[in-house]
Amino acid sequence: GRKFFVGGNWKCNGTPEEVKKIVSVLNEGQVPSSDVVEVVVSPPFLFLGLVKSSLRPDFHVAAQNCWVKKGGAFTGEISAEMLVNLGIPWVILGHSERRLILNESNEFVGDKVAYALSQGLKVIACVGETLEQREAGSTMDVVAAQTKAIADRVSSWSNIVLAYEPVWAIGTGKVATPAQAQEVHFELRKWLFANTSPEIAAATRIIYGGSVNGANCKELAAQPDVDGFLVGGASLKPEFIDIIKSAE
Ligand code: 13P
Repeated sequence: GRKFFVGGNWKCNGTPEEVKKIVSVLNEGQVPSSDVVEVVVSPPFLFLGLVKSSLRPDFHVAAQNCWVKKGGAFTGEISAEMLVNLGIPWVILGHSERRLILNESNEFVGDKVAYALSQGLKVIACVGETLEQREAGSTMDVVAAQTKAIADRVSSWSNIVLAYEPVWAIGTGKVATPAQAQEVHFELRKWLFANTSPEIAAATRIIYGGSVNGANCKELAAQPDVDGFLVGGASLKPEFIDIIKSAE
């Protein structure tokens, strides 16, 4: 069994007051036990300490990015070592907003994943096609190339969660249908089977992201290859608790 995984990506949002409010909603939420669901929330760097120190112990925190190698003279960057030193267990890497807006290439994301893992971080690695790529019929080529750049650089996948986030579904309210999500998740698992190992394919959690909310999560969660969610907008609202509950 792959344990259900629900991540909340807060992106570049929140004041200290709003962060405290979200944390208190999370802390009061009635959710399945951590044997059933793994919950990770990802505030902006500046709030990681605040969230880590005030969040319930069965939920964990993730950074939204980190530097590609050892720290040093890289103004504005945050290194994987710093996250580890501060007790931050997870990092999101390769989010489409960084790939597309900040021009992170597949190779750069692959290097980041490998370095973060080498320092002891767990990684939520994101892949996904644009609308143009989907309409051109190249969805699988795109997500396979993104996944290959990771697979070429890592041997163990036990600390990786793979997030399939179609760009056209992110922040648009246009969620992938359960069938569309299942199709790509199934193909990604097949890709892992053929290109890594049957064990890695069976054990790796593949989670879906893109306009997930309290109303559409149940049907998506019922798909055999959907092992959880990476939630943006709805992770800032009380309905994040309902999404966590879709684990059971
Ligand atoms: P939305 O849930 O706001 O569509 O964002 C998804 C996402 O990008 C999570 O990383």
